[in-house]
Amino acid sequence: MKNEEKFLLRDRDGVCNRDRSDYVRAPEELEILSGVPEALGRVRRAGYRVLLITNQACVGKGLVAPATLEAIHGKLVAAVAEGGGRIDGIFHCPHVNEDRCGCRKPAPGLILEARRLWGFVPEVTWMVGDSARDAQAARAAGCRPALVRTGHGADAVARFPEVPAFDHLPAFVDFLLG
Ligand SMILES: [Mg+2]
Ligand SMILES: [Zn+2]
Repeated sequence: MKNEEKFLLRDRDGVCNRDRSDYVRAPEELEILSGVPEALGRVRRAGYRVLLITNQACVGKGLVAPATLEAIHGKLVAAVAEGGGRIDGIFHCPHVNEDRCGCRKPAPGLILEARRLWGFVPEVTWMVGDSARDAQAARAAGCRPALVRTGHGADAVARFPEVPAFDHLPAFVDFLLG
């Protein structure tokens, strides 16, 4: 039964790889954060499926072609695989604010789409991010928000002191797996 599987949702930039204010525009610009592939390897061995939930307005702005985004995600998937992890699904919003779509976080659309496809139970599913909008999207979708202090995390943690916070994704995984 799909809905008896365990899932971990997470943001991309500032959580898995170094956030860049000018966007990750090419695979060469994707810098995986220390320990992330290995941490996701532990998550996989514990029986979790991992879904990526990411805003990529760089696509809507015409800065990154869809094929380039695929190549960037190919590099991320390969890096995670080297640590024994697996990214089971990638859900991205290509829109900009002015599009007023339902999928750009803090809207919950991407998480709701992931849920339709994978059938996870939101109440027991963590969504890990580094931005306020990640926590807001998690809540709007009924998931459990968690924050990491990498990327924009310091600001988000200050804004949502009640949300569980961790120094980085590997520290969250320590918590998740007990
Ligand atoms: Mg982020
Ligand atoms: Zn969107």
